[in-house]
Amino acid sequence: MSPDGDPLLSVEAAQAHAVAPVRSTGVERVGVGEALGRVLGEEVRAPADVPPHDNSAMDGYAVRAADLAAGRLELTVIGEVAAGYVALRALGAGEAYQIMTGAPIPPGADAVVMVESTERTGDRVRIGKPAQAGEHIRGRGEDIRAGAVVLGRGVTLGPAELGVLASVRRARVLVARRPMVAVLATGDELRDVDEPLDPGAIPDTNSYALAALVRAAGGVPCVAPIVRDDPARIRAAIEAARSADLIVSSGGVSVGEHDHVKAVLAELGAELSLWRVNMKPGKPVAIARLGDVPYFGLPGNPVSSMVSFLLFVRPAIRTALGCAQPFDLPRVQVVLDGPVRARGERRSYLRARVQAGADGHLHATVMPHQGSHVLTSMVGANGLVILEPGTHDLAAGAAATALLIGSV
Ligand code: AMP
Ligand code: MG
Repeated sequence: MSPDGDPLLSVEAAQAHAVAPVRSTGVERVGVGEALGRVLGEEVRAPADVPPHDNSAMDGYAVRAADLAAGRLELTVIGEVAAGYVALRALGAGEAYQIMTGAPIPPGADAVVMVESTERTGDRVRIGKPAQAGEHIRGRGEDIRAGAVVLGRGVTLGPAELGVLASVRRARVLVARRPMVAVLATGDELRDVDEPLDPGAIPDTNSYALAALVRAAGGVPCVAPIVRDDPARIRAAIEAARSADLIVSSGGVSVGEHDHVKAVLAELGAELSLWRVNMKPGKPVAIARLGDVPYFGLPGNPVSSMVSFLLFVRPAIRTALGCAQPFDLPRVQVVLDGPVRARGERRSYLRARVQAGADGHLHATVMPHQGSHVLTSMVGANGLVILEPGTHDLAAGAAATALLIGSV
């Protein structure tokens, strides 16, 4: 533990502490239809070529290119092949099959002429021009070759990945088990949303925002009842949460009279790796290990708890899931749309709205109220503009770095 007065730890060093004790949660098998957003826990290979047969890219006629090259432009139509069916026999000299998009190329045919270049009369078809061998044919295995790795372990499954899994006929896949994340809000002042607010009380917002962040990161939140600022109750709540894969608490990690979380963690024998990070908002963050369980004691201020969750807890959850890239929030260059005042000696993360500008650059509008208690500054914020310590005031039009926390 860094005693008071020690230099503050950099965000990057704190992130390394945050993911170091995290272990994989293991895998489970799910149906491909239920796998959206899950992290793949196996390497998937194609058992066969995709597509499985040469097939037509057009509605038209399957022909022998040599017939047309030899000047034989009127052919006898011997049948039709629709998608899902196969030709009854091979194509002979002077013959054509009417064919639909996706239908297998009949044996003997080596090109498809699109219907727009043909003229049909009874069982005869006139072809307007010669065709190259292979024309308008989608080759077997053109998308995926049998035996090829189509998706690697650690990939997050989106719509395209699910489609590809179906294309290699994987009905069920191994995915990382979602980590159970205990969420504890501490504070005598806190009341649940549907409880009356007696004088001095405020609604507990962190339980809801943090549970949602857990879900968005791929975990399963397990929200505990609000914990009062009493060491015995905090201890009981933390003990009850030890069956989770990770524990996240908010509040009670500062240096106030009623901030008991660190002391209770110490009493429980937790290894506390740090609790002061060079960032604003969110300086007091307790990153610890309670037995095998990683513990994150986040600050109580609603914005601080969300920002420190995104920087420390989200990567820990992504690590537990076996993600190839646990630090997956992208850093981008932005143009500031308004002036930004320098914020002192700690690294600042300013809530901002990042949008693509007509000039092709990303533009950031920093939210006017940056107080760590102003939760509305997170609404609509899809980026955190990063100001390093010692940064001077920045004018509108200046370049800055932003961490994207939502889609642009
Ligand atoms: P603390 O970190 O416990 O000193 O709390 C810092 C500030 O955050 C105080 O103003 C608390 O009232 C507020 N706060 C702490 N926990 C929550 C919570 N769960 N929901 C809303 N505000 C909170
Ligand atoms: Mg408190």
